[in-house]
Amino acid sequence: MFSFEFFPPRTDKAQERLWRAIRELEALNPSFVSVTYGAGGSTRGKTVETTERIATDTTLLPVAHMTLVDHSVAELRHLIGRFSAAGVSNILAVRGDPPGDPDGEWIAHPEGLTYSEQLVRLIKESGDFCVGVAAFPFKHPRSPDVETDTEHFIRKCRAGADYAITQMFFDPEEYLRMRDRVVAKGCDIPIIPEVFPVVRTSFIPRSEKLSGAPFPRDLAQKFESFGDDTEAVRQFGIEHAQKMCEKLLAEGAPGIHFITSNQSTATREIYREIAGTRAP
Ligand code: FAD
Repeated sequence: MFSFEFFPPRTDKAQERLWRAIRELEALNPSFVSVTYGAGGSTRGKTVETTERIATDTTLLPVAHMTLVDHSVAELRHLIGRFSAAGVSNILAVRGDPPGDPDGEWIAHPEGLTYSEQLVRLIKESGDFCVGVAAFPFKHPRSPDVETDTEHFIRKCRAGADYAITQMFFDPEEYLRMRDRVVAKGCDIPIIPEVFPVVRTSFIPRSEKLSGAPFPRDLAQKFESFGDDTEAVRQFGIEHAQKMCEKLLAEGAPGIHFITSNQSTATREIYREIAGTRAP
C-alpha cells in the first residue's frame, strides 16, 4: 500500500506544479493521497478546494488534513461539513502547531479544542468518516518522555482513530521501537510510516525543525561528505529512502506514505525500485 502527501498551493504556478505531480502519481494507483492543512490563514481554503477536486476530477481517494489552530468548535463542525459535501470522507485529525513558531506556546481557541483526541471524537460524531491521527517515532517534541507520548497516542487511537501516519524519520529502528511500544500496550492500530526522501543537504536542519527530532548524526555526516556534489547527494538520499522503505515493509509496516513536496520525480524513482515495476 502506497500513498502520497501534497500541500495546498499558494500561487497559480504552484497549483500547476501540484496538478502535474498529482497526474503523474495517479498512474501509480496509490491507496490514497493526502493534502495538508496550513498552520494559519491563506492556504486553508485550498485544502478543501484541492481535496474536492481530487475527489471529483481524479480516480484518487483524497484524505484531508485538519487542525485545531485558530478554530472554534463551530468552525471545525462547518469544515467537517464542507469536506463531507465535497465527497471527502477521510480526514487526518491533527492538532497543528502554533502559527509562526512551531515551538511557541500552544494556545487553544477560546471556543476550540486542545488535543487531537477531541477532534477525532468530533469528526466521528459528525458522520461516517474514516479518521487518521499522527504518530511520532522519536516522541512528540512536547511530550516529556516516550512513555507519556505512548499513553497519549493510545488515547487518541481509542477515541476512534482508524489508523495513524508517522512524522518523518530517518532511522527505521525508531519506527519499529515505537510500534512495539504501542503493541505492547495492547493497541494494534495500523501505523503507516511517512517517508521523506532527502535530496538536498540543506533539508537536514529543516527536518529537525519540522519534526522536533534529531537527524541521525552518522547519516548527516554521510550526506555532508558529498559536499557540493548535488547529484551524489540526491542519489544517496533516494537510495537511503528506498532501503528504509524495504526494511519497513519487510518488518510488517502496513504501507508507505511519501511526502512528495508536490513533485513526483524522487517518489516515482523510489516507488519503481521498491514495487519492482516500471513506474510511468
Ligand atoms: P496531539 O495528539 O493533540 O498531541 C499534542 C501533544 O499533547 C503531544 O505532546 C501529546 O503527547 C500531548 N497530549 C495529547 N493528549 C493529551 C492529553 N489528553 N493530556 C495531556 N497531553 C496530551 N500540522 C499542520 O499544521 N497541518 C497539517 O496538515 C499537519 N499534518 C501532519 C501530518 C502528520 C502525519 C504528522 C505526523 C503531523 C502533521 N502536522 C500537521 C503536525 C502536527 O500538527 C504537530 O506535530 C502537532 O504538534 C501535534 O499534533 P498531534 O495531532 O499529534 O497533537
